[in-house]
Amino acid sequence: MTAKLKKVYIKSYGCQMNVYDGQKMADLLKPHGYRITDTYDDADVSILNTCHIREKAEHKVFSDLGRLNTVKKDRKNQEDNNDMIIAVGGCVGQAEGEEITRQAPYVDMVFGPQSYHRLPEMLAQIEQKVKGKRRKIVDTQFPAISKFDFLPAANETPASAFLVVQEGCDKFCHFCVVPYTRGSEYSRSAKTILEEAKHLISLGAKEITLLGQNVNGYHGEGPDGSEWSLGRLIYALAELDGIKRIRYTTSHPLDMHDELYNAHRDVPMLMPFLHLPVQSGSDLILNAMNRKHTAADYLKIIEKLCIACADIKFSSDFIVGYPGETNKDHKDTLELIKNVGYVQSYSFKYSPRPGTPASILQTQVAEDIKSERLTELQDLINAQQIAFNQSMVGQTMEVLFEREGKIPGQVVGKTAYMQSVTLNGDSSLFGNLLSVRISNGYGNSLSGERI
Ligand code: SF4
Repeated sequence: MTAKLKKVYIKSYGCQMNVYDGQKMADLLKPHGYRITDTYDDADVSILNTCHIREKAEHKVFSDLGRLNTVKKDRKNQEDNNDMIIAVGGCVGQAEGEEITRQAPYVDMVFGPQSYHRLPEMLAQIEQKVKGKRRKIVDTQFPAISKFDFLPAANETPASAFLVVQEGCDKFCHFCVVPYTRGSEYSRSAKTILEEAKHLISLGAKEITLLGQNVNGYHGEGPDGSEWSLGRLIYALAELDGIKRIRYTTSHPLDMHDELYNAHRDVPMLMPFLHLPVQSGSDLILNAMNRKHTAADYLKIIEKLCIACADIKFSSDFIVGYPGETNKDHKDTLELIKNVGYVQSYSFKYSPRPGTPASILQTQVAEDIKSERLTELQDLINAQQIAFNQSMVGQTMEVLFEREGKIPGQVVGKTAYMQSVTLNGDSSLFGNLLSVRISNGYGNSLSGERI
């Protein structure tokens, strides 16, 4: 008789790195008799793979935990008493550790981003009840051996795949928890990255997005023993048979380097769209944030990228209402947004993160001022985004199709600039890079017809 497959529900919050980690957790658990379910209602194990970057994301975790606990309690009253294991992973797990099991005693396991390769082992330990009771596990270590040595190869991939090349951060921006939750910068060897890329392409990936908290600070060992930069790595990736598109995210302006500018000039597969967060356009605020560059330094980098690749476009992250931000600082940010001409961006009101230097500053900006500034900034970026989308009308764009649209009979793909394009078609188009004539440009998307 074959053993019953256990069902595991994994919910990833936040950044693409977390999405990658969530996929790797699934890959790790499948050989151990687990199959993925997309609802926690019938899950044997529920894992919340959390994000700590903003207060709102953290609150969401605790409200989701409350929902899981309701299911867990209901199960106790049922005949088969199929108890659910509840686990909290990711950056909230790392930052809060045992505090989570104090606040939510029904949580069975807490682990950080550097220990999830031990998931099958930790789950097996929890399942071995001692005197009818489950033990709790809290593992927030930064192990000496990299988790990447233990992660299994994927057995399926979307057409647009993520590949982590670098993790962690040594920059210590004064608002950010990442250096504390992900640890210091670590780069994987170029050999393991190229092998993983080849494997993803063999499974059907056409586009690979290289991921890292400071991805352009990548400095891994090359096959010849020398240190490779991200630019060097991109040149090598572009030589792999079958790769059509390369992207990388998230970058720090200070880590841009000559080989990377050259890659933007020379490598046609490297997409002409770069997410290069600046956070603020005010030198005073950039200094207070410990970003270690000025607005003028940033603009010089943008100029070099535009010289390397004439049609490159940019997106950024913005923090509005950082402690001490004045109206003049805010206006400087709006000015920079116009100068760069961002065609997309992510913007948020500053929220203090415990343990970061900015959280204890006495110069916190009032919520209503933050809200006003955020609206003004988002209105400007939205206007730039719509203008850019509308400028595409009548043009022919290469679009990589990946998923069904909201309306039956439509499929959705992405342009080089990460714009979503809808088209009449079916799933036979998935994984195809097709020429599409753009007929409409909207706020967040385009629509078109296949040529
Ligand atoms: S560079 Fe700054 S914002 Fe980015 S992960 Fe590091 S500390 Fe956080």
